[in-house]
Amino acid sequence: MDISLSEEDKAFQQEVREFLEEHLPKGAEVWSKRKEWFEAGKAKGGWDVPKWPKEFGGPGWNASQHYIWDRETCDKSLPLVLPFGQVMLAPILMNYGSKEQQEKFLPDIRDHKVNWCQGYSEPGAGSDLASLKTKAELNEAGTHYVVNGTKIWTTMGHIADWMFCLTRTQTTDVRQEGITFLLIDMKTPGIEVKPIITLGGSHHVNQVFFDNVEVPVENRVGEEGKGWTYAKGLLQHERSAIAGISRTLVSLQKLKRNALKVKVGDGNLMDDNSYRKKLAEAEIDLRALEFTELRSLAGVQAGGAPGSESSILKLKGTIMQQRVQELTIEAAGPYAINWGHAKAGPSFSRMGMEMYLNGRAATVYGGCSEVQKDVISKRVLGLG
Ligand SMILES: Cc1cc2nc3c(=O)[nH]c(=O)nc-3n(C[C@H](O)[C@H](O)[C@H](O)COP(=O)(O)OP(=O)(O)OC[C@H]3O[C@@H](n4cnc5c(N)ncnc54)[C@H](O)[C@@H]3O)c2cc1C
Repeated sequence: MDISLSEEDKAFQQEVREFLEEHLPKGAEVWSKRKEWFEAGKAKGGWDVPKWPKEFGGPGWNASQHYIWDRETCDKSLPLVLPFGQVMLAPILMNYGSKEQQEKFLPDIRDHKVNWCQGYSEPGAGSDLASLKTKAELNEAGTHYVVNGTKIWTTMGHIADWMFCLTRTQTTDVRQEGITFLLIDMKTPGIEVKPIITLGGSHHVNQVFFDNVEVPVENRVGEEGKGWTYAKGLLQHERSAIAGISRTLVSLQKLKRNALKVKVGDGNLMDDNSYRKKLAEAEIDLRALEFTELRSLAGVQAGGAPGSESSILKLKGTIMQQRVQELTIEAAGPYAINWGHAKAGPSFSRMGMEMYLNGRAATVYGGCSEVQKDVISKRVLGLG
């Protein structure tokens, strides 16, 4: 395994740094100048869609170039791109969509003209996704599917223009069969979106209800009944992305700086042996995880596919996110209680509790920790 940067990689790293220095909007401009940022990326050769292959206008980077981009950008505020269209749906359309679907949807996804949401989970189908029941029946004329049922935990469903959705078109003994992948316009009559307010006090997830919703047959991706195959390829990429190891390393470095500002007796929190020990243990675990990520990248570079080790990254990466959030609450002490509107206490304590509470979900979404352990035991360790 060779995980050191080659000369080519170092040159690419330098190119990324120069690009960020020249084009990344600073401070409040990150919103107002986002269009210029995306245009600069496009002109650079698809850097506005880093994960896209060359044939669809992306940069076609290899695994180490992706790694370098992630490392160089993780402590910067990049203009926000919701993952549902660009990262999740686009590869499915590229691999399984028709030419017409690619031409209709990919340009708008790239230009941030439409918001997408993901309609996979249902009240009775989360970890056990294949038990989903939202029904899609083809009408007699064969022109439309009629969709009935409900999806839950739909992130950003309330601002989405479109949903990519798993529906059941047939019930057979093998539950993974008979699932059909549909693209649904959220303005279609019969769709109702109801908010779910999470523990952290915010509204980003929803329950979506379908009552005789008509979906044109040309909005089906691939073959009827084969949606499971299209949907599951996404999960390994989603899991590696959720792991967020670079971001957690940056959060930990920030926390160390903040802990220096928290007074304890005549000194500060970093003089406290027990707190310092917890930070050190978290950092050691994170560095070890970083090496697992590098090992997985080295495997992909050598011609492998991102495999079940994405479950190791997801499992441990989300546990580490939660550990750093817990240590942030500990550093904030009583001020953590004042989350949201508080003016009292150090500024880092204000978002600490909200991040801590919202962060509880990370070990559940994208496949809960127990499911990742199942995958690791079967596919990595070869047990059972
Ligand atoms: C904040 C948030 C955002 C989300 N966004 C989306 C979205 O945009 N689109 C979408 O489709 N879905 C989304 N989800 C849904 C998410 O994918 C599911 O929550 C997840 O798959 C778990 O399903 P569930 O909630 O039904 O929990 P369940 O499957 O009921 O699991 C609950 C608990 O049961 C235990 N458990 C389950 N299975 C096993 C097992 N095999 N072995 C041992 N223990 C087990 C685990 O402790 C697990 O945490 C989101 C969820 C959250 C929390």
